[in-house]
This record gives sequence, structure tokens and C-alpha cells, in this order.
Amino acid sequence: MPENDPMAVDPIQPTLLVTSETPSPALDTLPEACSACRRCALAETRHQVVISRGNPRARLMVIGEGPGAQEDASGLPFVGRAGQLLDQMLLSVGLDSNRDAYIGNVVKCRPPDNRKPTAEEMASCLPWLESQIAAVDPAVILLAGATAMEGLLGVKGGITKLRGQWRQGSGTVLGGRWLMPVFHPSYLLRNPSRQQGSPKWHTWQDLQEVRRRLDQLANGPEIPAGEPSAERGL
Ligand code: SF4
Repeated sequence: MPENDPMAVDPIQPTLLVTSETPSPALDTLPEACSACRRCALAETRHQVVISRGNPRARLMVIGEGPGAQEDASGLPFVGRAGQLLDQMLLSVGLDSNRDAYIGNVVKCRPPDNRKPTAEEMASCLPWLESQIAAVDPAVILLAGATAMEGLLGVKGGITKLRGQWRQGSGTVLGGRWLMPVFHPSYLLRNPSRQQGSPKWHTWQDLQEVRRRLDQLANGPEIPAGEPSAERGL
């Protein structure tokens, strides 16, 4: 991302990015309920469950893959180097990760050796994630990486092809929400180029699109379903 880019986006009114509604009490009981969860084998090796950080009133939710070592130690998602990059990237489009977003993962317990969670582990943990989405009620969901796509939507495939295209959710939990797949920040740490066409450059384009959508939802009339850039039917 070019150095001047963060200033290219106007500051946003913080109040437009959060709802005035009181967060669902379901979120209060989630840490205790997840701590008691043994639905999958990840419970055997975790130090603690990792539920969320950020603002449960935010209109933007960020969903990643699963906790790493630092997250497992701290109990908070996206706090390592990848998390710091996520914070920077959100800030580059005028979003404060702790004020304007609610951040979680597909699985709540750390997969050993930072391996990808299995399909069974993701399916076991999905009800927890769905309860978070229902309680926070985000208008826009940022899916960080292919595993988040697979875990939440059951869509498999390379994130290079999937990123940057709006998807409109359907069903009880995802209906009415806009979902944007992007590269995972860990991938961007391994691919730090900011050149036009690089993963980091694409991610910045995608985040600007997310910011535009949040602004539209906050300020304008309802976005008609099936607009040209939207991919529907999930
Ligand atoms: S990863 Fe999810 S389903 Fe598995 S034990 Fe942890 S909280 Fe339960």
C-alpha cells in the first residue's frame, strides 16, 4: 500500500459504524460455554478458548481461521503479527479494529502447530460462530482467508480467485448480510510487496470496497439485491 494511501479515505463518523442496540446477552455467556466445550479434539490441546475482540455493536465483523500461539496464550484473536497487520489495514480505510469491528475466528481453540482446522473441527465449532453472528448482527462480514470461506460458507477454493467479490448471505444467520473474502493477513506477511497487482494491493482495494459498502449502508438507501458486483445465492 502506498504511504499516502491511509489518508486518501475521509475519516468516518464512528457512530455510523456501530448500532445503538444493546449487544445480545448471548455474548456474555459465550466464554463460559465455549470454555466447557469439548465438541472436537482441539479442546485437548488448547490453553484457553479464543472468542473475540472488538466492539459487539460494530456493523463490521471480521472472521479468521483460528487462534495461533499468541492468541491461545492471550485469549484474544488476531493479536500477533498478523493481527497487527489487520489493524493497520483496517486503519488504512479509516476503521479502528477495536471500535469499528468485532473480530473472531472459525474455530475457538488453537489447532496444534498452527495447522488448518479440519472440516470436522470447523463444523463442530460453527454453531458458536453462528451464535456470535446472530448476536452481533453485522451488516458486513470480512472473511480473512480461504479457511474462513470454507468454514462459514462451505465454499472451497483458492482465495486468489475468491477474494474481492461480494457475496450476499442467505438463510437464518447470514441472510441480509454482505460478505467479502480477502487474503488472510498471515499470507500478506509472507507477501509484503505493495506493488500494483500484489496481494497487499488487492487487499487494500477490497478494504476500500468494504469501507464504501459500510458508508452506503450507514448513509444511503438499501442496496438493491443482485447488483452487478454481487454474487448471490449462498
Ligand atoms: S474448537 Fe470449537 S467445537 Fe472444538 S472444542 Fe473448541 S470451542 Fe468446542
